[in-house]
Amino acid sequence: MARYRDAVCRLCRREGIKLFLKGSRCFTDKCAIERRNYVPGEHGLSRTKVSPYGLQLREKQKAKRIYGLLERQFRNTFARADRERGITGENLLKLLERRLDNVIYRLGFAASRKEARMMVTQGHIDVSGRKVNIPSFRVKVGDVIALRSTSSLQERVAENVGAGRGQVPPWLDLDAPAKRGLVRGLPLREDIQIPVQEQLVVELYSK
Ligand code: SF4
Repeated sequence: MARYRDAVCRLCRREGIKLFLKGSRCFTDKCAIERRNYVPGEHGLSRTKVSPYGLQLREKQKAKRIYGLLERQFRNTFARADRERGITGENLLKLLERRLDNVIYRLGFAASRKEARMMVTQGHIDVSGRKVNIPSFRVKVGDVIALRSTSSLQERVAENVGAGRGQVPPWLDLDAPAKRGLVRGLPLREDIQIPVQEQLVVELYSK
C-alpha cells in the first residue's frame, strides 16, 4: 500500500502547526516547528496570500495528515460521512476519531498515530477479546481495546501511558495498569480537539 515516506516534519511546517506525527520528539525543542516555523521550500519565507480554495485545501490536508490517511482513504471516509445523518463535517471528524489506530493513540498506548498503526497492523491489539489488525477498524460503544497479554510491547506501552502526553478524551475510559480502554460513548464534536475547520473541508469536496 502507498505510504508517505518523506520527512514528516515538513508536513507540520507546511501547515504551520504541530501535527504531532513523531511521538516524543514533538514535545522537545528539537521539533521543527519550534526551530523553523515557515513553509519548506525555496519560497517558504515569501509565500503570503492564500485564496479561499487554498484555505479549504489546507484544512483538508491538515485533517488528512493528522490522522495519517492517504487521499483515497480520506475521500472514502468523507463519502461515508456525507451519507450519514447530521452535519457532514462533524460526521467526518467523528468517523476519523473512531478509527482503531486513533483510539490506541488517544488512550496513550502509542506516542504517535503512526506508532499506533504499527501496533495494530502487527497484531498487538485486541478489541473485545479478538485480535484486530486493521487500523481503520471503527470502534463502537462498549468495545474494550486492550494490548494483547502475549504482546512484546508491554514495557513500551507502559512507558507511553506513564508519559501522559495527552488527556484521554471523555468518550474513552483508560485502565492504565491493565493496558485496556473502554469505549464509553461516541465522540462529540467538542471532544475532538484538533485544529481543523471541518466546514472548509466540506466546501472543498462539494465543489
Ligand atoms: Fe511536527 Fe512532531 Fe516534527 Fe514537530 S517534531 S514538526 S510536531 S512531527
